[in-house]
Amino acid sequence: MKVAVIGAGAAGCFCAILLKRRMPEAEVEVFEAGKRPLAKVSLTGGGRCNLTNTFRQITTLRQAYPRGEQLMKRALRRWSQQDTMRWWEQEGVRLVTQADECVFPASQDAMQIVETLLQRMRKEGVILHTSHRVNDILPEEEGYTLCFASDELPPRHFHRVVCTMGGLPSTNRFALFRHLPGLSVEPPVPSLFSFCINDPSLTSLTGLVVKSAHVSIVGTKLRAEGALLVTHWGVSGPAVLRLSSYAAPYLAQHDYKAELCVNWLWPSSEE
Ligand SMILES: Cc1cc2nc3c(=O)[nH]c(=O)nc-3n(C[C@H](O)[C@H](O)[C@H](O)COP(=O)(O)OP(=O)(O)OC[C@H]3O[C@@H](n4cnc5c(N)ncnc54)[C@H](O)[C@@H]3O)c2cc1C
Repeated sequence: MKVAVIGAGAAGCFCAILLKRRMPEAEVEVFEAGKRPLAKVSLTGGGRCNLTNTFRQITTLRQAYPRGEQLMKRALRRWSQQDTMRWWEQEGVRLVTQADECVFPASQDAMQIVETLLQRMRKEGVILHTSHRVNDILPEEEGYTLCFASDELPPRHFHRVVCTMGGLPSTNRFALFRHLPGLSVEPPVPSLFSFCINDPSLTSLTGLVVKSAHVSIVGTKLRAEGALLVTHWGVSGPAVLRLSSYAAPYLAQHDYKAELCVNWLWPSSEE
């Protein structure tokens, strides 16, 4: 069994390790477009890598994953935050839990996470290729042929292909799926952004934090609550970021123009 994993980010590297552990006889090769693997992981958590969360302060998953609650429920049933912690500790990475329940390596160094994953890949016999951008996946009778962006790299055949390419910012980056039948691509839209309100009477309050506000998009059921921050271009803070996440597809369809309603005195009502 020859397996190709496209993308050497956290997902691809971890997947390759688990594949080799479950199927030691399989040949697992990871293809990364960039010059180095796990580039994003090295930046995570401000260079400290927030590995997971104990979930002790999370009452509903919706709170943490506004648009992905069901998907996350299924994923966490198969691999929970405790599994994550156990896995890293077995790999010799000592963990610490902060007062806010975020879990970090005790070394406070994301590079320890990068190095541990790369070392484990080497030990399991995963083959890693960098500067290998896959630009086509051609279905064959048995498996798939991968074609690479560089003409110098000949096409390669694999029985299975795993796509862990992270977030792709534009729909044309999904072109490599065009020959695969039965796949439809949901157009990607940005999420977790602040709102621009060009009104000096508001923006002159830059830096003001309202601890508990309720924000909603007028004419929809889209709403969120939490702290709100006035910035020099409009509003931000957890309530607004959360609303942007719920409203991402709606706002994209409406050219990012909408009427925002703010209850600055939440949880008091208008009356
Ligand atoms: C600044 C910052 C801080 C963060 N902090 C944290 C944190 O503390 N804790 C946390 O849990 N999460 C954090 N995140 C989120 C986390 O980094 C990502 O969710 C995670 O790294 C995503 O991993 P991934 O493998 O899905 O995707 P990626 O890391 O994006 O990896 C995908 C890889 O696929 C490659 N690729 C794409 N297309 C192709 C192709 N056609 N051929 C070959 N290769 C291809 C890309 O080059 C990339 O290396 C942070 C993110 C950022 C940006």
